[in-house]
Amino acid sequence: DEPTETLVDMLDASVARFGSKVALEFFGAQTTYRELGEQVSRAAEGLRRLGVGPGDRVALVLPNCPQHVVAFYAALRLGAIVIEHNPLYTARELRHQFEDHGASVAIVWDKVYDLVTDMPSDVKLAHIVSVDMTDALPFGKRLALSLPIRKARESRAAMTSTPKARRVFTWDRLVGGHRLSRRVIRPTIDDTALLQYTSGTTGTPKGAILTHRNLRANAAQGRAWVPGLAEGDETFYGVLPLFHAYGMTLCLTFAMSIGAKLVLFPKFDLDLVLSAMKKSPPTFLPAVPPIYDALARATSRKGVDLSSIRFAISGAMSLPVSTVTRWEEATGGLLVEGYGMTETSPVAVGNPIGPSRRPGTVGVPFPSTDIRVVDPDAPTEDRAAGEPGELLLRGPQVFQGYWRRPEDTRAALLEGGWLRTGDIVTVSADGFVTVIDRVKEIIITGGFNVSPSEVEEVLLSHPDVMSAAVVGLPRASGGEDVTAAVVMRAGTSFDGGALRDYCRTRLTAYKVPKRVVQLDALPTSLIGKVLRKKVRESLIAGRSA
Ligand code: ATP
Ligand code: MG
Repeated sequence: DEPTETLVDMLDASVARFGSKVALEFFGAQTTYRELGEQVSRAAEGLRRLGVGPGDRVALVLPNCPQHVVAFYAALRLGAIVIEHNPLYTARELRHQFEDHGASVAIVWDKVYDLVTDMPSDVKLAHIVSVDMTDALPFGKRLALSLPIRKARESRAAMTSTPKARRVFTWDRLVGGHRLSRRVIRPTIDDTALLQYTSGTTGTPKGAILTHRNLRANAAQGRAWVPGLAEGDETFYGVLPLFHAYGMTLCLTFAMSIGAKLVLFPKFDLDLVLSAMKKSPPTFLPAVPPIYDALARATSRKGVDLSSIRFAISGAMSLPVSTVTRWEEATGGLLVEGYGMTETSPVAVGNPIGPSRRPGTVGVPFPSTDIRVVDPDAPTEDRAAGEPGELLLRGPQVFQGYWRRPEDTRAALLEGGWLRTGDIVTVSADGFVTVIDRVKEIIITGGFNVSPSEVEEVLLSHPDVMSAAVVGLPRASGGEDVTAAVVMRAGTSFDGGALRDYCRTRLTAYKVPKRVVQLDALPTSLIGKVLRKKVRESLIAGRSA
């Protein structure tokens, strides 16, 4: 199942095959495949006139919306490289990324417009296209999503007062002109398509270089993974951000490759999703555990019916078995877990979708994907069968390296094309992978290693604990103390000593937290991962204060 065509060829084929079918739906407004192809061609011509060509970087700073999809394929059509950004990043975070990738053109949601126009002059950004989404939304929805009701016009006025003015166009102007001529050179399959930044869970986000081949391969592997998909007849729900590798491949590329309708949401909002279901019942829902929990709980409401969802695929963080049970009872469909990372476009391991899946594990390697389990301190030494170790991966979805970070690339990509995942796993005799923790987050208490997930799982099994993060805090005498931060459920009271006693009856002494502290909320990434690094930093800061 080796792909031979680029993402651009793939879209063209779907436009030809599924022309009058709906490709995108956004707050009820629909775009057919034919219309999408037309808009991509016009936007590509607009970008070409701004000087975009092969290898140039085009930055997108957009939430999920139809323009996001059009801009993505338009840039690729010219052989350019797309760089996705979280539109809720701060000015400092965005500037860091723009300095890193040096894009010449940015397509920007006008809510965050000022952050981009005000970047210092060493950021080589020449043109900005501003996308105003407010007209697409009914008034009530604007409030619900707290979108600013502000027009590009006003932002433009603000901008001309800054000395480092950059040229600004509106989206309508970009797509208002001609179609792209057929003679423009198209990208080839080994060209870079996407610079996708990692989530920054363990350090500064790094730009992962992904080619058309990488991304197409992962969509094809996903295709082989999910059984019984009806081409031209599925409805995907895009509640995951397209600026993250998970949403980009499993929502967008996968949907477009099989002629599905993709219903886009700028963010996960329970009421918004439930009301969209009345018009377009979803059949396929890639998401993360908190979303499945929220939806499953909502089935107790009158008129909420999730039975159209045949497949639900969870990734990015570990999926509690209790969430699987709750979801499957509530919907009658399957919820299966997969595993991957930005560097693998992103899926590398997945549970079989059917009776042989195994909740609590992330499943078996994807087709054409090889795995090894090695000593994290000596990654050429394989572990004995069944022993925990760092997972190495090899396959057509593995990235080409990190953008302008040769040392990080050398550290991540070993001889023979093996990728170091940085994750500790075990593999059962019949090949099922269980993720234990990240190498960097394992706590060294002095001779013993403690997996924070194992301790968190015990704390989460306590009925009063809503969420938990376990980290190691440095000890003056060397080593680290296991320390837990918990968020209690409403109406319960916190007693650190009692929680430690609770752990003591369930864990060996060295794993029991030396201290349990209460927090109002845990810091999470935009996709919902608990950021242990931030918890650790704030506990260290609090200790010295
Ligand atoms: P950074 O690399 O910048 O520190 P990140 O690793 O969180 O950030 P991503 O590429 O978005 O960035 O996430 C990949 C990681 O997510 C994996 O290495 C793994 O630690 C975790 N992960 C993904 N799927 C699962 C899963 N099913 N169970 C547990 N962890 C998972
Ligand atoms: Mg990572």
